[in-house]
Amino acid sequence: MSDDVSSISDNIKRVQERIAEACVRAHRDPDSVTLVAVSKRKPTDAILDALAAGVQHFGENRVQESQTKLPQVAAQLNDLPPPIWHMIGHVQSRQAKYLVPLFSVFHAVDSVRLAQKMSKLAQEEQRQLDIFVQVNVSGEVQKYGLHGADWRKNSATVDQLVADVGHIMAQPNLHLRGLMTMAPYDAPEAELRTVFASLAALKSELESQLSVTLPDLSMGMTDDYPIAIEEGATVVRVGRAIFGER
Ligand SMILES: *Cc1c(COP(=O)(O)O)cnc(C)c1O
Repeated sequence: MSDDVSSISDNIKRVQERIAEACVRAHRDPDSVTLVAVSKRKPTDAILDALAAGVQHFGENRVQESQTKLPQVAAQLNDLPPPIWHMIGHVQSRQAKYLVPLFSVFHAVDSVRLAQKMSKLAQEEQRQLDIFVQVNVSGEVQKYGLHGADWRKNSATVDQLVADVGHIMAQPNLHLRGLMTMAPYDAPEAELRTVFASLAALKSELESQLSVTLPDLSMGMTDDYPIAIEEGATVVRVGRAIFGER
């Protein structure tokens, strides 16, 4: 165990308390929110400590790091339950073949082409992958995701989103759980709320146009997860508040 063991379990308790408090404010069941501990650039010991403290879901975002770290964790589990691994970062099509065998959940599917590729790989391995479609609702140019900033005002944007999400959903061996977004860094609270509320409303719009239920919204990180929960997040991706600065 690492020297940080007590601080990691204390940090997890604190994050779980803040999740519960946000759920109270939003009149939601705390069990409706899943914590994904983002362990990118952190050592295997830290992941084992978090597993021992009861965290089940872990997020990583790089191919090479995952290829070495995930098998290392698997080899050191002893009596701990195996983690459920979430790929939270952007995936290039040519990387998909390395990632599909390692991860169960993909948060940043952002093109029909990538979904087709992942579906084919999942079929070959006879696996089902949980996916989220990443939508760029903040409009920042450096952000990945399907274009969605002007969806409330521009019907062409909605039509394109409906078409793309419809094609992605139709791929075999992929199970679309919902939408994911990243809020701008250091934005004022009102702006964060607008971004999160926009993704939540877009989910409803897609549900009604596609006649489907999309149960999940993956949104909220260390600096903003309580706000994201108040605006409807069901999955929060928290790194620094658990493992410290990177
Ligand atoms: C790094 C990362 C996180 C976690 O960020 P923290 O600020 O450490 O909580 C969440 N989501 C994505 C997509 C990330 O890349």
